[in-house]
Amino acid sequence: MSSEAELLLLVESRKKSGVVAALLNLFLPGAGYVYCGRWILGIFAFFFVIVLLLASFGFAAIGIVLMLIIDGFLCAGRYNKDLVKDIIRQRASEEKTSSMQGANLSSGGSLRAQDTIANQASRSCPECGETVLAVARKCKHCGSAIVPIASAT
Ligand SMILES: [Zn+2]
Repeated sequence: MSSEAELLLLVESRKKSGVVAALLNLFLPGAGYVYCGRWILGIFAFFFVIVLLLASFGFAAIGIVLMLIIDGFLCAGRYNKDLVKDIIRQRASEEKTSSMQGANLSSGGSLRAQDTIANQASRSCPECGETVLAVARKCKHCGSAIVPIASAT
C-alpha cells in the first residue's frame, strides 16, 4: 500500500461526519461541537440555548439552534481539515524519529523483506552446523568442502 493511500485511509477512519455533528446539535445543542472535539464551545453553546429557553426567548433559542446545526456541520469540516494536517505532521515526526534510530520501525514490510534476504544469503554447514554463506564452497568454521546452495550472481 502506498503511503498516500494509507494516509487517505487514516483520514477516512478518523474524520467526522458533518451530518452527525449537525444532528447532534439539533437534538442536544452543543453535542455536535463535543463530537468534533471542541468541548468548551459545546458546553458554552448548550448553556446558551438553555438560558435562552429559560428566559422564554423561544424564537431566539430556535434561531441559535438553527445556527448550531449549520455550524455543527461546518465544524466537522474544520475538524477534518485539521485532522489531515495533524496526521501529516504526526507522520513527518514519526519518520524523523525512526530515521534517527537508524531503522524504519514503522514499516514492518521492509524489515520482513530484509529477513528473507538474510535467510537466503546464509545456511548451516552440513559438517559442523555453523552458519555459513549460501554461496560458500568451503566452511569458514570447520574448513570442509560444501556444495553451495545458491549461486553468486
Ligand atoms: Zn563447517
